[in-house]
Amino acid sequence: MCGIVGYIGKNNARITLIEGLKRLEYRGYDSSGISIHNGNEIKTIKSVGKVSNLEEKINPDEFRGNLGLAHTRWATHGKPSIENAHPHNAGDITLVHNGIIENYQEIKKYLIKKGHEFISDTDSEVVAHLIQEENKTKEFEEAVRDALKKIKGAYALAIIHKNYPEKLIVVKNSSPLVIGIGEDEFIIASDASAIISYTNRVLYLDDNELAILSPTNYTVKTISSNKSLYKEEQELDWSDEQAKKEGFDHFMLKEIHDQPHSIQDAIRGRIDMDNGMVLLGGLIPIEERLRSINRIIIVSCGTSYYAGLVGEYMIEEYAGIPTEVEYASEFRYRKPLLDKNTAVVVISQSGETADTLAALKEAKNKGALTIGIVNVVGSSIARQTDAGIYNHAGPEISVASTKAFTSQLSILTLLTVYLGRQRDMSMVMGKRILSELQKLPSLIEKILKEEGSIQKIAKKYADFENFFYLGRKYNFPIACEGALKIKEIAYTHAEGYPAGEMKHGPIALIDKNFPSIVLAPKDSVFEKTLSAIEEIKAREGKVVAITTEKNKDLSVEDTIFVPKTLEILTPILMTIPLQLLAYFVGTERGHDVDKPKNLAKSVTVE
Ligand code: GLU
Repeated sequence: MCGIVGYIGKNNARITLIEGLKRLEYRGYDSSGISIHNGNEIKTIKSVGKVSNLEEKINPDEFRGNLGLAHTRWATHGKPSIENAHPHNAGDITLVHNGIIENYQEIKKYLIKKGHEFISDTDSEVVAHLIQEENKTKEFEEAVRDALKKIKGAYALAIIHKNYPEKLIVVKNSSPLVIGIGEDEFIIASDASAIISYTNRVLYLDDNELAILSPTNYTVKTISSNKSLYKEEQELDWSDEQAKKEGFDHFMLKEIHDQPHSIQDAIRGRIDMDNGMVLLGGLIPIEERLRSINRIIIVSCGTSYYAGLVGEYMIEEYAGIPTEVEYASEFRYRKPLLDKNTAVVVISQSGETADTLAALKEAKNKGALTIGIVNVVGSSIARQTDAGIYNHAGPEISVASTKAFTSQLSILTLLTVYLGRQRDMSMVMGKRILSELQKLPSLIEKILKEEGSIQKIAKKYADFENFFYLGRKYNFPIACEGALKIKEIAYTHAEGYPAGEMKHGPIALIDKNFPSIVLAPKDSVFEKTLSAIEEIKAREGKVVAITTEKNKDLSVEDTIFVPKTLEILTPILMTIPLQLLAYFVGTERGHDVDKPKNLAKSVTVE
């Protein structure tokens, strides 16, 4: 998410900071801002939209100094606006933040009681005020450390103080941050692309570490201890272009690898494990109304539509509410039967999808309760729904959706437990699902380590022109999503189908040139899926099976293994190899996978 840049050294900070922001633009953002310490005071200016808008607003004479911070924001708390843009200030403290503070509401209440006044809706401003509060009785560095002890969440922070024109403090926990070491200067940033043109000597902080930088020196400590640590400096051998993608060849691959984090961010602060419950701040205003909902319609397009299909299976099985899924482009023109006890859940990464927006308006006109599952804060859908849940997946740059999809599935799991616990789901079941959900990021890391073997399989099949993607129950929608992904990226004909439907017609197409990718986890329908595999093999069809680790009951051409989890969560794990398969077939065919032909990232036309 977003970008942070900081500078301390012998040169004019503004120039390095603005250049750094431009280099981080690729990460996606909605607003930006900069603060410069001129030796006496800190000057701040912010702007909505492009960094060039910010640049135009800056008077170079006013913004001159050797210490500064800058930020491109990708809103998670509060819409994109000047007030919500960073840097945030509280008294002598000015800071920029990347990430999400989980317990900001609690801390904000405490600080309001102490007389603090807030001007933004962000979680970040709370950190500035908390440090200011601690700074009343402690000096700067100790105040920062003590404030951080009270904060839960993911953050990279860069902090300056009006009375310390030669000090920059940076800290990191679960959000990226790198320190570039120059000749009598330091440049800190969210990733190396903002640094590489100044220096290739860098220092990576580990979680819970902070660095105290002066123009010529640095010390690293931890949040909990005042002792200095030794950290090994590293030499970067990245080219400028590579640095922009954090070393990955394409944004799509980078975003596939982001998924352990994006899922973590989707569930961060939303699980009350003691009670097997889900906390969704965005649903608080409609909590009571949700208890009387007796029907759900999920409306979406493309990849989000397939997330909706998984949602239908989840909600019906675990929350017991009749659920349907509709393409937004169909819903908007037919006569849907809705009433006030129907909840219409609209899913859109961008929150600007024209068909989904039109369907949402129709649902509102008919008096249904509307809920959004949206990644972009303050987007049209987010503003127009009655309530909603943000994905917090960070910007998705590659046109083909990857991390937004698994984030949507994670949010739908949370929504299912939320609705289920309002009804007759037991605490034990709530806990069970939520504790398995929490394990997914590390299970995904495990799958990503197998990337090499998935690449080999992709190479083997890269020249085939037709594929079936088959799955049953929870993994039928994932088969459809896998087929969509390879269509988008590799321009290959692929059909997603329920495995049990093959015999009712499509099997006529099977021969040795028409391979099938079969999702066959060891779940309640494994035996049935096995029958479909046998039917394909009997017709000389090649099968690539994706199944659960250690499953020896399969004899197929190629096998990809994924770790074991609950059946309801298998779709999230199954998705990862399918994304990699599409990516590697696409790159093998020499396509520009980040910008596939004929496609647009956010479909804002009908
Ligand atoms: N949570 C913060 C906000 O909404 C930071 C977002 C970011 O990482 O850009 O302002």
